[in-house]
Amino acid sequence: MDPELLARARAARGFMPPDEGLALYDAAAAVAVTGPFLEVGSYCGKSAVYLGAAARLSGRVLFALDHHRGSEENQPGWEHHEPDLVDPDTNKIDTLGTFRRTIHDAGLEPTVVAVVGDSVTVGSVWTAPLALLFIDGGHGREPAHRDFETWAPHVVVGGTLSIHDVFCDPADGGRPPYEIYCRAIDSGSFEEISATGSLRALRRTKPD
Ligand code: SAH
Ligand code: MG
Repeated sequence: MDPELLARARAARGFMPPDEGLALYDAAAAVAVTGPFLEVGSYCGKSAVYLGAAARLSGRVLFALDHHRGSEENQPGWEHHEPDLVDPDTNKIDTLGTFRRTIHDAGLEPTVVAVVGDSVTVGSVWTAPLALLFIDGGHGREPAHRDFETWAPHVVVGGTLSIHDVFCDPADGGRPPYEIYCRAIDSGSFEEISATGSLRALRRTKPD
């Protein structure tokens, strides 16, 4: 990975450990089919820098989808709440400004296109086939399964589905990302390419 972008990605705010970020980059850089990348759940742009670095390398676009209002687990009183990301005027989480700054400072504005809205609302009208899909949005049961059902059908054969926060052992974290990983494998349409910490990369081997 480009050393400057690697340093930017590591320094960016977010919940992606360095080894998993690099594995995400490696999986994206290895994508051999044409088409754009899309991530569900951008937060402050950390994973978008890893994915954007790979997208730029192959002259693609990364669509970075988020409503920027935070997941359940980012709300006040939850584990991943960061109080300085609450807009004092609206009293709502607003990560869009930090996201834009991260992408700007990384020099990735030509490559990373923010899509600001609800995952299912955008997904219901989305038609572009995806070379890579990264799912890291809401981690509750309903949002995770809906993201999988909404977006995985857009991954082309030969394309990559990556999922974050997959914990095989329930003691390590919540179940829904693991459940959708299992759904992908059990569908028979995806095979595992790599596993690094809680990051999984799968390749689509056949249509649904
Ligand atoms: N990938 C990021 C972390 C994402 S955190 C990183 O590397 O740091 C999860 C994100 O999913 C939050 O920013 C939240 O706003 C977003 N999200 C949750 N539910 C969503 C939904 N229904 N539509 C769009 N974004 C959603
Ligand atoms: Mg995550």
